[in-house]
Amino acid sequence: MSATILVVEDEPSIQELIAASLQHAGHRVLRADSAEDAVRLVNATLPDVVLLDWMLPGMSGIQYARHLRSIERTRNLPIIMLTARSEEHDKVAGLDAGADDYLTKPFSPRELLARIKAVLRRRAPQMTEDCVEVEGLRVDPASHRVHGNSQSLDLGPTEFRLLHFFMTHAERVHSRAQLLDQVWGDHIFVEERTIDVHIRRLRAALELTGHDRLIQTVRGSGYRFSALPE
Ligand code: CA
Repeated sequence: MSATILVVEDEPSIQELIAASLQHAGHRVLRADSAEDAVRLVNATLPDVVLLDWMLPGMSGIQYARHLRSIERTRNLPIIMLTARSEEHDKVAGLDAGADDYLTKPFSPRELLARIKAVLRRRAPQMTEDCVEVEGLRVDPASHRVHGNSQSLDLGPTEFRLLHFFMTHAERVHSRAQLLDQVWGDHIFVEERTIDVHIRRLRAALELTGHDRLIQTVRGSGYRFSALPE
C-alpha cells in the first residue's frame, strides 16, 4: 500500500528521518515546517495521512488538527500526532482534537509504518489490499479481480475502483461530488455526469450474477452500495 503522507514537523533532523523511512517504504512524502505551511500544501494536494507534530511554531499541532476536522474536505483525513515524552499527559487533548492516533518520540520507523497502516485500514479501507466480500461478490485489490458467486466478472479500471470504494464504504450514501473526490481523486475536473456513465457500466458488468442490485440510486442524493433492499 502506497500513500501520500504529509509530515508536519519543525525539527529538520526528525522531519528528514521520518521522510526517509516513509519514502523507503514506498510512500510519497509532502513536508511542512509549520501548520501554516501545511495549510498551503493541503490546499494543493490532499494527502492520505497527516503526521502532525504537537509543538510547532505558530499554530500548534492541536489547533491544526481541529482546523482539519472543521473543514469538509479534510474532515476524515487520518491524523497521527507526534508527541515528545514530556507531553504524554496531553494525549487525551490530542485525541479530543480529532487525532486518530499518537506516537511518542522517539519511535522506530517500523512502529510508524505499522501505525500508518492501521489508521489507513480503519479510515481508508479502499487503500488497503484486503479482499472484500458482500453477498457472494468478491473484490481482490491485490490481483484486481472481481468474482460474483465464484464467476469471474470483467470490470474496467474505473469501475473496479468505484466498486472497491463502494464495498469498503457500504450502507452509506455518497454524493457524486464525494465519489469524484474519493474515486477519481481530489482536484480532478470531471463532470458529475461522468459518474453516472461509470455507474451504468459497473451495473452492466455486475448484471451477469445479479449483483447490480447492490448498487442503489438514492434520488436527489447519489448512490449507495447496500445488501439491504432499497
Ligand atoms: Ca516540534
